Amino acid sequence: MTEPRHGIVLGGSWAGMLAAHVLARHLESVTVVDRDVLPGGPAQRKGLPQARHVHVLWSGGARIVESLLPGTIDRVLAAGARKIGFHEDVVTLTSHGWQHRFPPRQYVIMCGRPLLDWTVREQVLASDRITLRQRTEAVTLTGDGTRVSGVEVHGLDDGAREVLEADLVIDATGRGSGLRKWLSALGLPPVEVDIVDAGIAYSTRQFVAPPGATAGFPAVNVAADHRERRPGRFGVVFPQEGGRWMVTLSCTRGGDLPTTEEDFLPYARSLRDPLVAQLIAPVEPITPVFVSRIGANRRLYPERLDRWPDGLLVLGDSLAAFNPIHGHGMSAAARAAAVLDRRLGGGLGPGAAHDLQRAIGETVDDPWLMAASKDLEYVGCRNHSSDPRLNLGSSAVHQFVDLVASGSMLSREVSDVVTDVLSMSAPQSELGTSRFFTLIQRAERLPELAGPPLSAEELAIANLEPRSPVLRGAR
Ligand SMILES: Cc1cc2nc3c(=O)[nH]c(=O)nc-3n(C[C@H](O)[C@H](O)[C@H](O)COP(=O)(O)OP(=O)(O)OC[C@H]3O[C@@H](n4cnc5c(N)ncnc54)[C@H](O)[C@@H]3O)c2cc1C
Repeated sequence: MTEPRHGIVLGGSWAGMLAAHVLARHLESVTVVDRDVLPGGPAQRKGLPQARHVHVLWSGGARIVESLLPGTIDRVLAAGARKIGFHEDVVTLTSHGWQHRFPPRQYVIMCGRPLLDWTVREQVLASDRITLRQRTEAVTLTGDGTRVSGVEVHGLDDGAREVLEADLVIDATGRGSGLRKWLSALGLPPVEVDIVDAGIAYSTRQFVAPPGATAGFPAVNVAADHRERRPGRFGVVFPQEGGRWMVTLSCTRGGDLPTTEEDFLPYARSLRDPLVAQLIAPVEPITPVFVSRIGANRRLYPERLDRWPDGLLVLGDSLAAFNPIHGHGMSAAARAAAVLDRRLGGGLGPGAAHDLQRAIGETVDDPWLMAASKDLEYVGCRNHSSDPRLNLGSSAVHQFVDLVASGSMLSREVSDVVTDVLSMSAPQSELGTSRFFTLIQRAERLPELAGPPLSAEELAIANLEPRSPVLRGAR
């Protein structure tokens, strides 16, 4: 069978919807299976607990979404999302100091995750080739080790078991995917898995932003300094649709995450700079505090198996999930969808699914390495990975990363290259070229900043006192 006609996508979230959209461009019909009820608007749902926390879509991912579903970014902007230019629209305390607000090179889309998901979902499900099966749980794959022929599902309302047949099944069921178990049941050897776990935890609350702040105030990001050799503590204030600020406070293992309303502000005050606390102290909270402890980097390696069944693919968080602080999960899933789109045109002959899975695996390598190698710098990070690049134990690697971070903070040219990589608009290998090494050594650097680079208008919006301006170190 070279031309699949019917596809099933397990999981109807971000990765699943993008995959379903791509399949519908190439196959006659697609069924999306999700155990949740997918809301008919931008609402929270049980199966997506991370949607209570800040989500940004980097420009690298946004451009792919736009190419697959033109008009999506305009739709979310019209619904109140912000397009935040990096670094002009962000005030960041990096591990090495305050980042200069260079003219934007890339951007992120900032809004609630439910708005992003719904905007994509509404367009995808408009296709008459796609059928949605909600409240339906994937239980196991059918077929054998050479070919997957469908999936056994369990109706959560009627308890009925049923086999849905397909020429192609895509697993997009997220971090909790049963794929490894399902493949064992088909008689395949275990898929290798790497885990790098810095113990990331998030605590999030929403506030009414001051008048003018959602449109005219930058996003704020206070990061930890991994060189302090103690648990990292982070805080962000991100504008959201509806005149809201979403405030996420987070930590690495041992960082005593705030889990109650009483603990929230004191924790914000304990960050390396009081800016987040100063912003939220006077404004009105409008939600309880939500906590997430899902943040380990976890990557499967289906491409390493000698045998892979035809008719099966895996992408999204099922394949690789990252520390969310880097904001790469949705963009990585979009990259996988783009590869799927490019490759499906040629049909899927015997062995083609394994080749395609390899190509999908390559799309997650950069975000995997970026997140996992950064996390290894934090005390208490647990490394259960076979990736040799994460087991070098070399302080030289960390020194280079520090050099890049400090250069990026003060030099526009360095920052431009780093921002291209961070936004998943350029490969990470850009940081290893001789051009970049020369740039790091020779680029013009601005003086270090003594405090947050906020304009008089921005200070007025947030009712903040000015702090002392630019300091030492001009080169
Ligand atoms: C706290 C937090 C903050 C984050 N912030 C960002 C960010 O700023 N930027 C970014 O790009 N990424 C971020 N991420 C990552 C992002 O949330 C994920 O990368 C993204 O949701 C992955 O999408 P997915 O479709 O693969 O999986 P999910 O979104 O997890 O969806 C899985 C779907 O599968 C369904 N499902 C599960 N099991 C079954 C089953 N057996 N049968 C049927 N259906 C099933 C679920 O109901 C769900 O709909 C963050 C993650 C966390 C935890």
